[in-house]
Amino acid sequence: MSTSKNLITIIANWKMNPGSFKEADNLIKNIKNGIKKSENVNVVICPPAVYLSKIKTNAKFELGIQNIFWENRGAYTGEISAKMAKNLGASYVIIGHSERRIYLRETDEMINLKIKSALENNLVSILCIGETLDEKKKDKTSEVIVGQLEKALNNISSFQFPVSSFQIAYEPIWAIGTGITPAVDEIMGVALLIRKVIAKLYNRETAEKISILYGGSVDSGNAYDFVRKANTNGLLIGGTSLNASEFARIAGLFG
Ligand code: PEP
Repeated sequence: MSTSKNLITIIANWKMNPGSFKEADNLIKNIKNGIKKSENVNVVICPPAVYLSKIKTNAKFELGIQNIFWENRGAYTGEISAKMAKNLGASYVIIGHSERRIYLRETDEMINLKIKSALENNLVSILCIGETLDEKKKDKTSEVIVGQLEKALNNISSFQFPVSSFQIAYEPIWAIGTGITPAVDEIMGVALLIRKVIAKLYNRETAEKISILYGGSVDSGNAYDFVRKANTNGLLIGGTSLNASEFARIAGLFG
């Protein structure tokens, strides 16, 4: 993992796909063949947790988990800890994805505990934040972004917060899986707002260095603009990441 300002992170969130390890194995083989090793691009594949231990990383990509529980071990049926994820080869964790906030009733407080656990266990957190369509229509995007960030980072000091251990994905909920995307200017505006909040909570240097990703209906036609024109540091890709050639094409756009 590098903290270089020019490093672009491309994250594949496979969600609860594909349905068998055979398919997952095929997908990973095709991605491995399709992407090239690049100093400028950091590719992270987040498969369902049950496939993690069976996927071997190579120099072209790293692994992430789609969720963790906040304790390291104990009586928490069905949960997986950051420590376990690390042990299975994950270096990254997606935290606070809107699908978990919606379907699993994940709260900002739970998200805060998960970030603390990821930091303790040296997993890079990818914190997902973003507004609903209703909030956007009511002009509440900034309020939502600031609120989610402040609550997620509550009581996490700059000492506990190395910038290389944290990335923020702006994922407007109305853009996820819909084929509808924000304008480049809107993404740029939210990225600036995120840096402002980080500067206030930590300092200017952290705000400048922190990696900000965009996610929501990314494909090979819009990916370049969402990074280069919107001035972000990478992409979080759902649906399109299940198409190895499209995913590899996107990674290839940046080096
Ligand atoms: C996501 O689930 O994080 C996502 C961005 O999904 P999609 O690319 O399918 O919109």
